[in-house]
Amino acid sequence: MNIITFTKHKLPLRYSFLIPNQASMETHDFSFTYSTLALTELPMCLQDAVRRAEEESCRAYAPYSGFQVGAAVLLSDGTLVGGNNQENAAYPSGLCAERVALFHANATYPDKEPIAIAIVARRDGLVVPHPVPPCGSCRQVLLESEKRYGHPIQVLLYDGRDVTLLSCVHDLLPLSFSDTIL
Ligand SMILES: [Zn+2]
Repeated sequence: MNIITFTKHKLPLRYSFLIPNQASMETHDFSFTYSTLALTELPMCLQDAVRRAEEESCRAYAPYSGFQVGAAVLLSDGTLVGGNNQENAAYPSGLCAERVALFHANATYPDKEPIAIAIVARRDGLVVPHPVPPCGSCRQVLLESEKRYGHPIQVLLYDGRDVTLLSCVHDLLPLSFSDTIL
């Protein structure tokens, strides 16, 4: 078990004028727990999702970054929907693997809730040997899907040997923007 805790960063002395009056200041802590385990310790449906993400990464279109990412979304009925990053010469026009997979799933099976997403990255043909978490934009989109279906989405990050398992996307995006703010 690993626990990540975000603590207040210390300001350099030259910025001490930014420190508020601490007498009345209310502070909040945020932490979450995640697990690391061998791929074979996962239930078979999640192992299949990881393997699918691994396959998807081979088909990514990433001629500019050379960073090929594959994702597989597991739906409530066991369906797997894959996706991979699609780059473009006009860089911002490309899209991450996670969103390609999730939008594909939401568009094709809008009545089936996503319950997990597996992510695998590859460079020079080899699986990147450390967990590659989703970017901020993908976290935002995954979080909306969690809210839309009222169900947590497990996140599985495969490094070629072990899987980092997060129980929901909400943990990855505290103080997130949402429709309740609009
Ligand atoms: Zn992304």
